[in-house]
Amino acid sequence: MPELPEVETIARGVDSHVRGDRIAEVWFASYRKLFKSPAARQARGLTGRAILAVHRTGKHIVCELSAGGGSMHSHASRKDKNAASVGHPSSCMEELGGKPEAQWIVHLGMTGRLLVTTPEAPLAPHTHARLSLSSGMELRFVDPRRFGRLEFRDLSRGPGFSAAGAEPLTVTAAEFARLFHGRQTSIKAALLNQKLLTGVGNIYADESLFHAGIRPRRSCARLSGAELERLRLALVEVLKDAIRLGGSSVSDYVDADGARGLFQMEHCVYRRTGLPCRCCQTPIRRIVLAGRGTHYCPQCQR
Ligand SMILES: [Zn+2]
Repeated sequence: MPELPEVETIARGVDSHVRGDRIAEVWFASYRKLFKSPAARQARGLTGRAILAVHRTGKHIVCELSAGGGSMHSHASRKDKNAASVGHPSSCMEELGGKPEAQWIVHLGMTGRLLVTTPEAPLAPHTHARLSLSSGMELRFVDPRRFGRLEFRDLSRGPGFSAAGAEPLTVTAAEFARLFHGRQTSIKAALLNQKLLTGVGNIYADESLFHAGIRPRRSCARLSGAELERLRLALVEVLKDAIRLGGSSVSDYVDADGARGLFQMEHCVYRRTGLPCRCCQTPIRRIVLAGRGTHYCPQCQR
């Protein structure tokens, strides 16, 4: 399952390709569960809007969109496809500084991928969405296991998307301490709780606990303020490293260009059961906590 660094990597990759482009035409497959708002309404809502920016919020990819409607996107029909494809992204540059008026929100689920391709690129099996852009490129959503979700929000009718938990890269020390302090669960379970922090999954929970020197089984309630702060700093470091390296590639994850991430090279404990700790050579141990395989060094983590 893609975690925060993978989602961040994909969002950045997509942003660099489609920012300033315009959605000329939308095609959706018929698998209904993928659509948080009806597919026909999403297609209507998306068509003709400029993509102002693409970014990550929690584990969701959010495309910020310009106002739709009006004559500026009258080319958004199949008949005028040639006219649409000569349109240059810069034709909507004047809108780029404007406030978003709608959002398209993509959750990748277990196996979802958001790809920027040419229209001629072979269609992967399980392609559920194709957004033809004015530049001639295509934004595609592919999801074999179909746990992903697509949502359209018209910001004149309701609020923009926000994640349930705090953002781990920007949460303050005080807020972080407040979230975890006094909880009766293990710190590993708390790290995975998306209502506390958003976007931290199994890999980065294990890795950050290793770097903080904290055993995953320990109760939040028994961690000192200094330990919690060490954990916060370790988590930020681990996530930033992973983003820098383009995310992990242990799952089905591929970034927007189809390149595989490299972060798996750097794991210290995750899926290294029985292998020597990179710090002290003690074999890495695996237990099950909160229903998840959990990896730690019995010597380095206390
Ligand atoms: Zn060790």
